[in-house]
Amino acid sequence: CGIVGYTGFQDAYEVVINGLRRLEYRGYDSAGIVLENENSVFTVAKTKGKVDDLVAISKDLAGTAHIGMGHTRWATHGVPSDNNSHPHLSNDGKIALVHNGIIENYDTLKIMLTEKGFVFHSETDTEVLVNLIQYIMDVNAEMDFPTAVRYALNEVFGAYAITVMHEDFPGLLVVARLGSPLAIGLGNNEYFIASDASPFVEFTKEAVYLEEGHMATISLENGVDIRNIKDNVKITPEVQQLKL
Ligand code: GLU
Repeated sequence: CGIVGYTGFQDAYEVVINGLRRLEYRGYDSAGIVLENENSVFTVAKTKGKVDDLVAISKDLAGTAHIGMGHTRWATHGVPSDNNSHPHLSNDGKIALVHNGIIENYDTLKIMLTEKGFVFHSETDTEVLVNLIQYIMDVNAEMDFPTAVRYALNEVFGAYAITVMHEDFPGLLVVARLGSPLAIGLGNNEYFIASDASPFVEFTKEAVYLEEGHMATISLENGVDIRNIKDNVKITPEVQQLKL
């Protein structure tokens, strides 16, 4: 029931794991993390259980990356299990996604994607969304990753806060929200993403709360670019000063 993302100069593993601990109060049954190393290769660790259980299987990842994201799951579709834990990867292994909320029309999309040859390794609604993004990129060879995420989101209904990464688009976090909260922390040469500001308030007091139906691309190179999911209209963010 929580999301944490990071890009910057700190150890992404530490920031994400400590951030997930700060979100533990929201309740959850599983936890996971994905890190993108200097060669743009993903490493995923995820498990049913607590953040401590995740640390037990993943502590070797400390110090290996400066960008990554993590998730605590409150199961809605599929039992709490290692396979159903987030992040979920697309079939080609290139896209990683964490999600809080529910994709209401996941079943019709799953049938469509299965007919196209996609295979599912979990019972979640979330795994349908990550493969829908891959499918949109497969059939539109020239399409860039954030556009594919936007197209996919226009095909789903339900409630979500998501963060997505792509191995072929290193250094980039794509986030979106509809019905579930997501905050972006603005640091000096670092950015944070979290379900609320508690994971990053120790590092920065400047935050943007993503609004309903908005998505953002976040990278050290290009900063934060917020768009309307529906029509891609650019949004000028309202920066909040946190008083925590
Ligand atoms: N619906 C998703 C699942 O069951 C996300 C649940 C959540 O909000 O953590 O995996």
